[in-house]
Amino acid sequence: DRVAVKRALISVSDKSGLVEFGKALAGMGVEILSTGGTAKALADAGVPVVEVAERTGFPEIMDGRVKTLHPVIHGGLLGRRDLGEHVAAMDKHGINPIDLLVVNLYPFEATRARGAGWDESVENIDIGGPAMIRAASKNHDFVTVVVDVEDYGAVLDEMRGNDGATTLALRRRLAATAYARTAAYDAAIAGWLAGELGDTFPRRFTLAGSAPQVLRYGENPHQQAAFYRTGENRPGVASAEQLMGKALSYNNLNDTDAAFELAAELEGPAVAIIKHANPCGVAVAESLSAAWDAALACDPVSAYGGIVALNRTLDGETAEKIGRIFSEVIIAPEFDEDAIKVFAAKKNPRILLRTGALPDPTAAGTMVRNLAGGLLVQTRDNGRIARADLKVVTRRAPTEQELKDLLLAFRIAKHVKSNTIVYVKDGSTAGIGAGQMSRVDSARIAALKAKDAAKAAGWAEPRTIGSAAASDAFFPFADGLLAVAEAGATAVIQPGGSMRDDEVIAAADEQGLAMVFTGMRHFRH
Ligand code: 5GP
Repeated sequence: DRVAVKRALISVSDKSGLVEFGKALAGMGVEILSTGGTAKALADAGVPVVEVAERTGFPEIMDGRVKTLHPVIHGGLLGRRDLGEHVAAMDKHGINPIDLLVVNLYPFEATRARGAGWDESVENIDIGGPAMIRAASKNHDFVTVVVDVEDYGAVLDEMRGNDGATTLALRRRLAATAYARTAAYDAAIAGWLAGELGDTFPRRFTLAGSAPQVLRYGENPHQQAAFYRTGENRPGVASAEQLMGKALSYNNLNDTDAAFELAAELEGPAVAIIKHANPCGVAVAESLSAAWDAALACDPVSAYGGIVALNRTLDGETAEKIGRIFSEVIIAPEFDEDAIKVFAAKKNPRILLRTGALPDPTAAGTMVRNLAGGLLVQTRDNGRIARADLKVVTRRAPTEQELKDLLLAFRIAKHVKSNTIVYVKDGSTAGIGAGQMSRVDSARIAALKAKDAAKAAGWAEPRTIGSAAASDAFFPFADGLLAVAEAGATAVIQPGGSMRDDEVIAAADEQGLAMVFTGMRHFRH
């Protein structure tokens, strides 16, 4: 299964590592064919190279749109060396086999990422490159194909260890990488056009039928991963247009989804900052800029490297503030020009995702999770509590401000891992306790974090004092409620329904708290 590499075709836009690679190949006696710019770069560095145009007898035309699209090239990539008919055709038409193809494509994604216009984007759609990559990959029984600078070393290592030949195992692996590359490339082009056109055409192929997007790795580097789009018509990370930044990772996708679903639930200009799929700051205010300040103040330490979700167009002023700390992803329905300028000027790339719209939190949907030997399927938690659903169970009824904060706290709690306690004051989170095995611990952790935030900001007291607290599920005992009261909350929202509701209500009355029951639970395990 070893095939000696005698002839290579190199045509690359990204010329990093090119000269070293070319020199090494030439050193092993490989003849190198190249397109204009690549040939020049090699020749300038003293690497012997033959221009494709010279070999085909046909010049590069139409500003490079037609360079390698010629039977002499494609026959050399596609001809099977073990079929008499193929070999005869090659002999007859003067076609030399090409054993190694090295191509990286016109930088379409990078061109889009810097916000280039329509014509420039179109010009950066590579045609001959993908055609060659797909041809060489199909013929991987004989041809080695390299689409990633990262693979130069692996190819050289194999050739050095095998008298200038590559193994079938490597060629198959590289072919898989190559098709993933052309699939991702076309997906980027289709995604761009779909984004430009909006919902004005049937997306028969780009969504339900689309190939999975292979991710660099899963939750951890030793796990493999891919992203499958279901075709569900729900604005969010799956259908978003990426305006700039590096490729989304598994964790980015997961956390960004959580962030945007939460932001979409909030009424009024809102910001949600997410870490590891849990919010570390959420706020609703008169402006996005004020909402950002308030959301960040909740837990400025955790916010670093987080995901930021907004429920309306990101403006330049807010973008400038967001840009002061590092965030992995910023997702919003729209970005205005000033906001894009703020991020385009940054050295450290942020991933900007434009969704065009917000998902409907009340829409039906299906959630899937797997466990050993099975799949768990349930409908989406689209439950939402309104004022009319609330039942006041204490002697004191919440004030108007408390009521607003209670509803917001409960809505946020729906998006936090259980057990959760969320404290809200004046439209922003004062403390969030997530994912504890005991509700009491969640109440205490949130209060502790609020104290830290107060210390960092130089406030006289933590914002849990006088706050509204939400619990995603009922308090089974009074201890959780007492922990909330100890943190300084004056009002509580919870589903109710515990055997000991009476004890919990009595404790609330004793503490002078106002408490409402929702009758609906928001577990999130
Ligand atoms: P060079 O810098 O060598 O002039 O061009 C290299 C780039 O041209 C590579 O990114 C390669 O994918 C692309 N390329 C090679 N052949 C063709 C072709 O026939 N048409 C188009 N549009 N691009 C090609």
